[in-house]
Amino acid sequence: MRKIAILGSTGSIGRSTLVVADRFPEKIEVVGLAGGRNLETLSRQVLRHRPRMVVIGDGEPSDDLLRACKESGSRLAKGSDGLAELASEDDIDTVVSAIVGAVGLEPTLTAVQAGKRIALANKEVLVMAGELVMKAAREHGAEILPVDSEHNAIFQCLEGNSRDSLKQILLCATGGPLWTRDREEFASVSVEEALNHPRWNMGRKVSIDSASMMNKGLEMIEARWLFDLRPEQIRVLVHPQAIVHSLVEYVDGSVIAELSRADMEIPIQYCLSYPDRWAEEQKHLDLTTVSPLEFFDPDVKKFPALGLARAALEAGGGVPVVLNAADEVAVEAFLSGEIGFTDIMDVVSEVMQKDMHEFSGSLESILVIDQWARAAAEDVLVKFRER
Ligand code: MG
Repeated sequence: MRKIAILGSTGSIGRSTLVVADRFPEKIEVVGLAGGRNLETLSRQVLRHRPRMVVIGDGEPSDDLLRACKESGSRLAKGSDGLAELASEDDIDTVVSAIVGAVGLEPTLTAVQAGKRIALANKEVLVMAGELVMKAAREHGAEILPVDSEHNAIFQCLEGNSRDSLKQILLCATGGPLWTRDREEFASVSVEEALNHPRWNMGRKVSIDSASMMNKGLEMIEARWLFDLRPEQIRVLVHPQAIVHSLVEYVDGSVIAELSRADMEIPIQYCLSYPDRWAEEQKHLDLTTVSPLEFFDPDVKKFPALGLARAALEAGGGVPVVLNAADEVAVEAFLSGEIGFTDIMDVVSEVMQKDMHEFSGSLESILVIDQWARAAAEDVLVKFRER
């Protein structure tokens, strides 16, 4: 029996994880749920899955949630202390890290230090603190398995092969909703258009990052730490059909790919079943219905996020922290209608050019740079808002 806690249970990945848990009640026990803003969904999840522990943010619980916890015999905790307690709870062997954004970093690091299996869906954890987190995982015997579909694919393609024979990874991208649009139209792209992803149904932040391809940029950095790669071993390949989730090329010219439907339940399930595989007839992939499969090089001029992320990947240190924080602030400003679509990367680029706070590699230093970059992005935004 896999005993799981889901950090971020009401988001897209959290809900999909609970669908998988529902499908395999004899294999998965939901021991803990942590949700942020959506207490209505959380209350329903508590009643259905009866977790022993429930964690919410710093705000007050709703009456519905209090009632649901009472009825389910769930203990309710709050804030970062509650998250830390849940992430290190003895009775949990697997922590699904699905809180979006920088706030997911600390509880995930706590779970790593407690030696858990981490089903990692939060890419900021490795973008911000990849070196620190992977080192802690080695020290504490924590297993980090990627939920992100591309990284889950690479993880599968690497299994059973010698790392010395690895040439490069080919990280697939759908290209997002704007892939076929002219660059001249980008400035006037609306929030709705940018949110309208052709293949994947995801949260708002990830959807905007997919439209700008910053999502792929962050994923390059995520891959660098997860698989201990050199920057030049990471190549992005646009594959609009989202059937091949990523590929690995070996020195002898062999290329191994992982294919499946564009369905997050598949990589989530593999993170929970690994090293086993659980039978799931409904997920059958009929290749004859998804042909042809196409592959293209990305257009870096059209998607400057890829160049910015490549620069951060190569620079290392605190630069990916700055990239991530500035992007989070700029995407939020775009989503609330304050800036245009192309302004997002202009903001990120401008923040990256500023003299950064010194980086030591510690968690404190990462959080200081994160805060500094957010403030710097807010400063830059003032000018954009005034136009
Ligand atoms: Mg992905």
